[in-house]
Amino acid sequence: MENPLTLMIVHAHPDDEVIGSGGTFAHYAKEGVQTVLVTATLGEEGEIVVKEIDTPENHERLAEIRREELRRATDILGIARQEFLGYRDSGMDGRESNAHPECFHQADPDEATERLVKLIRAYRPQVLISYNAHGGYGHPDHIACYKTTQEAFEAAADPARYPEAGPAWAVAKLYEMNRPRERSRQAWEAMRARGMKTPLDNPDYKIENYTAPDDVITTEIDVAEYMPLKRAALLEHRTQIATDGPFLSMPDDIGRTWFGTEYFTLLQSRVPLPPREGYESDLFAGLR
Ligand SMILES: [Zn+2]
Repeated sequence: MENPLTLMIVHAHPDDEVIGSGGTFAHYAKEGVQTVLVTATLGEEGEIVVKEIDTPENHERLAEIRREELRRATDILGIARQEFLGYRDSGMDGRESNAHPECFHQADPDEATERLVKLIRAYRPQVLISYNAHGGYGHPDHIACYKTTQEAFEAAADPARYPEAGPAWAVAKLYEMNRPRERSRQAWEAMRARGMKTPLDNPDYKIENYTAPDDVITTEIDVAEYMPLKRAALLEHRTQIATDGPFLSMPDDIGRTWFGTEYFTLLQSRVPLPPREGYESDLFAGLR
């Protein structure tokens, strides 16, 4: 039997799957592509942004709460399979939690690669995606996702590496998620012009830390029709997402290019690509 088209996206924490790729998951799930989300950690170090539930008891059981939030969000997006890499959240860069022996930041890179290789060989995705080298915004777990995914892309294809992890599988296309800088700036400025709160209000906010130069983008997935689903999925991550934060408060007309389009950079392809002008609009181009 031929291998079904399969998309695997590697994320660091519950809620990341919605923010960078929720529309892409929903779009391909609807098309009948097998969708697989790999979540590296349970987000144990996350803040609880809703004051009424920000209690010591909830912090104590945050992993359990976030596991349930993730389950609901993946149901909404139609994600077929969700797997954990089994690490602990490292917390933001510089925190004491970065030194926790079970955290992803402290993980043996070889062991982390093997865990992901095992999943790649089991699901046999043609398309594999994670963050950029900066982890999107510098979080140690996001950077670890990038490194692990790059390494696993090579290792999964090589029968000599991790023979215990299953028969070799060469993923056809490897991508990173990116947020284009100029389009992000335009979205924030349009919100500011309407008197709304935006990250630009924060004097410490550096847009370079959260975005990539627009010209690195190779691929744009139009997910405008899934914006309501993305919002609904984000709302399930109740402990994490402020309802007045940019993801939920951005008006639809502004959000169209920011929240209604998802952006990727093709890093490697093992298949010849069809000729194109402008952006690639299908992650499976060359594979159908
Ligand atoms: Zn994250």
